[in-house]
Amino acid sequence: MSAQLALFDETFHAPAKKRARRIHPSVPAEPTTTIPTALLRAADWILLNSSGGKDSQAMASHICRLAAKLRLLHRVVIVHADLGDVEWEGTRKLAEEQARRLGVRFEVVKAEGGDLLARTVARFFKLKAKAEREAREQGLDPATAKVAPAWPSSSARWCTSDLKRGPVRKLMTRLVAELGDLGRPVRILNCLGQRAAESAPRAKLAAVEVDRPASNGKRHVTTWRPIHGWTDAEVWKEIARSGLPYHEAYDWGMSRLSCSFCVLGCEADVVLAARLRPAKAAEYVAVEKEVRADFKYGLSMREIVERAAALEAERGELRRPPRGAALARYVGKKAARAYLVCVERGRLDLVA
Ligand code: SF4
Repeated sequence: MSAQLALFDETFHAPAKKRARRIHPSVPAEPTTTIPTALLRAADWILLNSSGGKDSQAMASHICRLAAKLRLLHRVVIVHADLGDVEWEGTRKLAEEQARRLGVRFEVVKAEGGDLLARTVARFFKLKAKAEREAREQGLDPATAKVAPAWPSSSARWCTSDLKRGPVRKLMTRLVAELGDLGRPVRILNCLGQRAAESAPRAKLAAVEVDRPASNGKRHVTTWRPIHGWTDAEVWKEIARSGLPYHEAYDWGMSRLSCSFCVLGCEADVVLAARLRPAKAAEYVAVEKEVRADFKYGLSMREIVERAAALEAERGELRRPPRGAALARYVGKKAARAYLVCVERGRLDLVA
């Protein structure tokens, strides 16, 4: 073997070395404050993550109102992670329109390498190859190897990390570069619309925490969940107050937005989504077959489609609900009508 080939052989098989990530010594282990005005004043960038859903929009209008009072709106950026065709139609445009009405910068990020369905299929083949390799190593028949489920789940929530968190961190890198050398890490206040009322795991999250995995030598990232303690009613009251348009999927009866079919969504939501987007539901059924696993733990998309079809047969086709129907349930019909007038006029009262 020539020396060159030997070198190639060695380097080819050497495991890729990961660059050690250094966190600036000034980044504390715990947040130094949890007071909203202090958090906002300390931030170089106030990053509002928006799925286009009701929680992120209520958070955005609430924070923009506070930032406007402190004259800090120029530091606010709304970021939307574009999930492609698996999210509800018009979500990206809606998030952009909300940012425009709030008068703040808008950014879209998108993960490279396909949407959730394409990634699920790719992940299946990787997991299958791994399971077969391990079976061979143990002297077993690879055809009988058990392949781990490829779909995301509450215990393997790769959809959020790959499709949202990762791309948003790339935006953080850009925002840090824009400010140049400040002689200290750039302070990013990363705001999320997660609420305790959504689920038991979310209830355990802190309202404010230092995000050390997202921090490095150049940036100090603090995660803030400004509406962590809010109820559904408080979210809808904020929407009514803000006059910002919300997604019509809520009027149809969806309780959450983002992906039309969420692996963590409740059964009523996914069945309703299958009635509203039958072609997309059929794509999920096809992927289920390809990856040999149910879309949701204990509930396949095939069953979801069957339940949707049974409801169609029993109740007939879904009829378009009146605009503002979801909001009216929380604030009453009169306030919902007043809100719709504000939305039409594009009126927004940030400092009211
Ligand atoms: S909406 Fe659900 S499926 Fe979609 S990225 Fe979020 S957790 Fe994953």
